[in-house]
Amino acid sequence: MTTTQNAVRTRFAPSPTGFLHLGGARTALFSWAFARHHGGTFVLRIEDTDLERSTPEAVQAILDGMQWLGLTADEGPFYQMQHMDRYREVIQQMLKDGTAYYCYSTPEEVEAMREKARAAGLKPRYDGTWRPEPGKTLPEIPSGRQPVVRFRNPQEGVTAWNDMVKGPIAIDNAELDDLIIARPDGTPTYNFCVVIDDWDMRITHVIRGDDHVNNTPRQINILRALGAELPVYGHLPMILGPDGEKLSKRHGAVSVMEYDKAGYLPDAMVNYLARLGWSHGNDEIFSREQLVEWFDTRNLTKSAAQWDPKKLNWVNAQYIKQSDDADLATRVAPRIAALGGDPNAADLTAVMALLKDRAETLNELAEGALLFCTPYKPADAELMAQHVDDDARKLLADFAAQARELPEWSAESIDALIKNLLASHGVKMPKLGIPLRLVVTGQKQTPAIGQVLAILGRERVLERLAG
Ligand code: GLU
Repeated sequence: MTTTQNAVRTRFAPSPTGFLHLGGARTALFSWAFARHHGGTFVLRIEDTDLERSTPEAVQAILDGMQWLGLTADEGPFYQMQHMDRYREVIQQMLKDGTAYYCYSTPEEVEAMREKARAAGLKPRYDGTWRPEPGKTLPEIPSGRQPVVRFRNPQEGVTAWNDMVKGPIAIDNAELDDLIIARPDGTPTYNFCVVIDDWDMRITHVIRGDDHVNNTPRQINILRALGAELPVYGHLPMILGPDGEKLSKRHGAVSVMEYDKAGYLPDAMVNYLARLGWSHGNDEIFSREQLVEWFDTRNLTKSAAQWDPKKLNWVNAQYIKQSDDADLATRVAPRIAALGGDPNAADLTAVMALLKDRAETLNELAEGALLFCTPYKPADAELMAQHVDDDARKLLADFAAQARELPEWSAESIDALIKNLLASHGVKMPKLGIPLRLVVTGQKQTPAIGQVLAILGRERVLERLAG
């Protein structure tokens, strides 16, 4: 690895105005994976300058989401509100250098300028009244008016960058207004704070959603005016819902933590999110380590990715299947309790081994485990009458007698016993299977009966058979 590779620094810079949503989580994941791939540094920066919309709860929700996904920041969280002095200091310096200027136009005046440009068939913009130019006399400063500070954007040429995702992008500087970087009360504006932090934090690669493409030329021009080195930019296309519309609440849960609640494994979520706009050949299931090893921005897709809940379920099912039984038991135990079951009522590790091949979520595992973790409820009389006749009772009595004598109580020995009984009575599996399930579990359908009985334990099984 070369030294430049070692110096890679990425950041995730969420605005804490809500929970960590799926798009944000994917942005965070790609920034994290890119930094890890290059042995670099991943920074978390909370962009909390919008005081009206930022809340401590949203900050916590973002931190929780990142932690759940295992996206650990190497530096931060940093909070922009703690950098206010620094922003003001740079604004003062820019005013001194002439790369920014005070503008005393009122919002109404600026609106009138825009209207005038529109009427003339031009792009609506600030007309540069207060922009200093060599040889130009500025208007007299109106008394008692607090000015904004505007960035002196270059008026000629183009601002271009080679986007890691979208390829070359070029914007005419003539299209860009002189951006307000400080409000009348002196507080810095959004784009300005982003620029100063990216600069101060020595961010080398800015990976973010493509809703920020329009901000990029403005940010590049400010960085240039400051004499800063430019980061490389990569703008990720958005995530669409299964219907091709922008992903929103209409499509189901959009908060990452909702997926925790619904029983998805964080590793499965990371795997699935990684495939939304990135690929490595045809690989669908890969570990975090593989993702880090393979993560290459050349394999990012230019087109929007589509959220596919069925595929997410499939990925989650694969991860559940691969999981260690004891680990699953630990994750599922609180979910069983939440459903009113007693997680200690059975050997949960064995229950997980029994159920994990067919479950798509941890919640499904918890529901399945209730068979072993809730008090026994006899089957309803109608079902019993339907399936447990005199023949069945005889079979069950034989089963109980021989089960008592089994030298070893295991799924294999129970299955062998069932097989022998079926042969000696000359009947097929449902004749014994259904009555046995009804009497022992109270339910007509259960997973493999031998395993179910093995987990319930001989004592409970015989007790229920004795009625
Ligand atoms: N704070 C911005 C957001 O949440 C992201 C800014 C950036 O990545 O440059 O959308």
